[in-house]
Order: sequence, then structure tokens, then C-alpha cells
Amino acid sequence: MRSHYCGGINESHIDQDVTLCGWVHRRRDHGGVIFLDLRDRDGMSQVVVDPDTPESFGLAEKVRSEFVIQISGRVRRRPAGTENANMPTGQVEVLCKELTILNAAATPPFPLDEHVDVGEDVRLRYRYVDLRRPEMLNRLRFRSRVTSYIRNYLDSHEFMDVETPILTRATPEGARDYLVPSRTHEGSFFALPQSPQLFKQLLMVSGVDRYYQIAKCFRDEDLRADRQPEFTQVDIEASFVNEESLMSITEGMVRELFRDVLKVDLPAFPRMPYSEAMQRFGSDKPDLRIPLELVDVADLVESVDFKVFAGPAKDPKGRVAALRLPKGGELTRKQIDEYTKYVGIYGAKGLAYIKVNDLGQGVAGLQSPIIKFLGEDVAMALIERVGAEDGDIVFFGADKTTVVNEALGALRVKLGHDLDLLTAEWAPLWVVDFPMFEEDGNGELTAIHHPFTAPSCTAEELAADPAKALSRAYDMVLNGTELGGGSIRIHNEDMQQAVFRILGIDEAEARAKFGFLLDALKFGCPPHGGLAFGLDRLVMLMTGASSIRDVIAFPKTQSATCLMTQAPGEVDERQLKELHIRLRKPAVAKGAEGEAGKED
Ligand code: ASP
Repeated sequence: MRSHYCGGINESHIDQDVTLCGWVHRRRDHGGVIFLDLRDRDGMSQVVVDPDTPESFGLAEKVRSEFVIQISGRVRRRPAGTENANMPTGQVEVLCKELTILNAAATPPFPLDEHVDVGEDVRLRYRYVDLRRPEMLNRLRFRSRVTSYIRNYLDSHEFMDVETPILTRATPEGARDYLVPSRTHEGSFFALPQSPQLFKQLLMVSGVDRYYQIAKCFRDEDLRADRQPEFTQVDIEASFVNEESLMSITEGMVRELFRDVLKVDLPAFPRMPYSEAMQRFGSDKPDLRIPLELVDVADLVESVDFKVFAGPAKDPKGRVAALRLPKGGELTRKQIDEYTKYVGIYGAKGLAYIKVNDLGQGVAGLQSPIIKFLGEDVAMALIERVGAEDGDIVFFGADKTTVVNEALGALRVKLGHDLDLLTAEWAPLWVVDFPMFEEDGNGELTAIHHPFTAPSCTAEELAADPAKALSRAYDMVLNGTELGGGSIRIHNEDMQQAVFRILGIDEAEARAKFGFLLDALKFGCPPHGGLAFGLDRLVMLMTGASSIRDVIAFPKTQSATCLMTQAPGEVDERQLKELHIRLRKPAVAKGAEGEAGKED
């Protein structure tokens, strides 16, 4: 139907006849001549319709925004002074000879101008219109380049693309399962995969050796900001490998991807033990672009009268840490109050601080509501510990270790962005030496990665002190975002049983849930390991999009609904009956609106 894309016309086509198809982006009536900006996925061309072609002119008078038309005409240079240097096609225009209206369009729900600020709810309801915007189409195109690059890279490194089932058993990754009732097996349910984890391990038992898949994963979580219930992973697994080989292949992939697609040379990927990341940055995904660090000060305050500090300093599960902000003395009372409120989100009960006005005056040169509680010596020792200088402010966190890490870790990132402290554009790293387990709220141990991750010790050592054991897991982090994570897996049945036991899964339950895996481990399972990248997040970082929803064609809202299709929806009684399901109470239609942009 067409000879060129609208965005593909330039001076080399002058005097040629072309046929273009697309959407009318804008129509301007210039006293006797009609200008149409015709748009398709590649860009825009200016089409001139004049009354010398009366039939086309009559039709051009009828077209409105977003009508779908086809035009044929001759390319010519724009008259001097009317060129548009901002448009790739801005030197030329097409003089229309024939215009066909292929389809009319109702007035669009919002103008497609990139500068128009449209509510996200409306954009999501009419996503197919929203995606027409060049900005959005470009993101989809970029995403396609990324996946195609990744496929090529992995293909050329002998990885095999294998699909794994969507209707399956639970694959524990720490979230709830999406369940699908079975019609043919009354009372039984499939689970949608939280990841292809177990299947990719079984493919290693089969001898696939190197596997990858760009896989949809499903996790029914209480949605935090910028998570999606269904998302895409670049899922990778390989046999006869160790951490080194896996990290080097996947680091190479990310490095070359950035070089090829973004023309960015990423700096070296340092390796940082989990414990160091938590200690220095309060986070297992530290943003190394921000030059601020947490410093432990519990030893200096454990004997002060000030319980707020002394309590956590003496508590083995507590932490007292300081965060020095160079030149932070300029922060106003109001700003400090706002930061205090901010750390409150992470459970901190307050935000103590000391401003350093003039160290030459000793403690008299410090300004802080807490000095009188700490005593002068301790106050000076704190300042010395963090190396604060005149004009700085030092913030303190004192609470349970998790609260201090989360609160000061988040404050560090916020200060870094608010005050423009970023020292680099890209800061990647590997976080390694994760603990195997962490305590949940009830004091029980849960797997930090997943239960199939190998410990770096023997089964006996693991059983003797599980809380201390480290795992062979690794996370790739970029600019404070976890791009991907993985581990060397357990390939021995006894070790797998030992981990299940620590997690409170007895033999009978292990057999019922993971019998197929335990069997497979008996039938010649090679040592293996892998990793999965979050594709949506990777594309979001690379495109600089502000939300993960902007790099997904049809995303869900924060409360896991689709505003366009109105999913999830009710089903009729007949379908429920076939599935052997009786609802506890009649379904109440939930308003699925007004929630797209809610962040928590
Ligand atoms: N299955 C893991 C995840 O989804 C990744 C991996 O261990 O390869 O996080």
C-alpha cells in the first residue's frame, strides 16, 4: 500500500512519486492550501493538498486528527524559509495528487502531542492510542533492539532458547502464586511460574548445558511502587560452571549491550560482599554514584545516658550509624523536618543530627539538639569518627539494624538526588556472599535467594549454624537497581534436603512439592548455576523512563488490574461450575479506576 514510511522521506527523494500511509497528526488550513502532518511509526511527513486536485482537496477538508489515510504525490523541496530543522523530513514535503481516507477516527481521548500532560489512567485505558506517541513507540522499538541484541549474544555463546511451561506447579521465589483451576481435575490447581527456576535446572539435568529464555514470570505480591504482577526475565542457566564463568558471561552481555545499543562504555564492575554493602550503604543494591556512606558509631554511644542511642548500641540486633553530608550545614530546619518525615516511611522514629559550624571552637562550634544528652566528649568523638568538617551536617540512625539500614540507606539516596551529588552516570557492581537465610517476622528462617541456591559450606556446617552460612548467590546492580540475580545451585539431593529441613520443610512435604526435583538430582545432575535479569527494569534504566509501566506495552496498574480490558473480570456461573468453584460470597465489581499512578 505504500512506497515509504512517513519518516523516511528526505532530499534524496525530491521529484520522486511516493505513496505514504498513516495517521493525520495535524491538519492546518492555510487559506486555500491544506497541510497535513502524516505520521507513522517512523516519523512524520508534511503533505500539501491544493485545490488543483479538487477531489483530494475535498477529502482533505474532511479529515480530522487520527484519521487513517493514504496519499500519493511528488516530493519537493519546501519553499525557502519554511524548512523545519527539527524534523528529519523538514527540508521536503509531498505535493498530494491522490488522497484516500482509509478510516475515520473519533476524536482521540487525548492529544498526541508529547508535551501534553495526560493522566496515566487515561493513557492506560486507551493504551493503543498512547502507544502511537513517538516517545512510546520509540521505547517499544528500543526494547525490541535490546531483546534482539541479547538473543544474538546468547545464541553466539552457545545458549539454547528453550520454552518452559506457564501452567505448572509452584516455583517459590518469595511471592504468592497466581493459581489456575483445573477443569479436568476437580479441586486441583496449576500455578503460573514465579520464574522458570526449576525447569531450567531440570534442563541442565537433561544435558542442555546452556539455556536461556525471555520468559514471562508471575508474582502475586502486594504491589510496591513500580512492580508488575507479570514481568519479563532474561533467564539463563549453564552447566559445569562456577560463579566466575557465569558472572563473566553475563557481565560481558550487559557491557556489550550498553556499548552497542547506547554507545556507553560501562566502568568496571567491582565485587562487594553483602555485609559490606549493608554496612557502608544500608542496602544490598547500593547506588555507587552517590558519595555518601554510613559509618558505625555504636561503640561510641553505648554508655551514654541517651537511651535512644545507647539502647540500639547495646542490642545485638540494633545498629547506630552516622551519615555525613558534606556542606549539609546549609540545610534549613524545614528541609531537615522533611527528611525526618522521609525516614519515618522506613520506620525510623526520628532523625538526629549535628551541624558542624566551626570545629575551631570545639564542641561550642557544633549545633544540635542531642549534644546535651550525649555529652561533649562523645559528640566530638562522633564528629571525628565520620571526619566531618566545618559546614557539614551529620545524620544519625539508631534502631533495629534493619530499620537503620533501610532509613539511612534511603536517606543517602534521596540526599544524593536532591543535592545533585551523583559522581557518575553509570555505576555497576556485583554484590556477592549473601547469607543463605534471613529471619522473617516470626523468627523463622527463609531463603534470601531461593531454596535451590547452594551454600558456600558443607551440609554439616550449614546445619550447625544456618544463620551464619553464606550462599553462592550474586546480584548485578546498576545505579541502585538490581538488574539481575542468580546463584550456583544445589546439585546434590542430601544438600537440598538439608536446606529444606532448615526452612521447616520436612521430608514428606519436600517430596510432595519438589519430588520431581529430588528425583532428578539422583539421576546424574551436573553442577550448574544461572541468573535472571529483569528485562523491564533494564530497559527502563537504559531509556531513562521514569516508570516501569512506560517500557511495557500493556502494563497493569499498581493494584494489578488492566484498565483497558478491565481484567481481572467476573466469570459466569457456568464457567465457575465447570471449574468446580463456588464463590464464598458473590463477586463485587471493584472499581478498577483511578489507581494507575499510585506509588507507595
Ligand atoms: N530464579 C531466580 C529469580 O527469579 C533467578 C535465578 O536464580 O536464576 O530471581
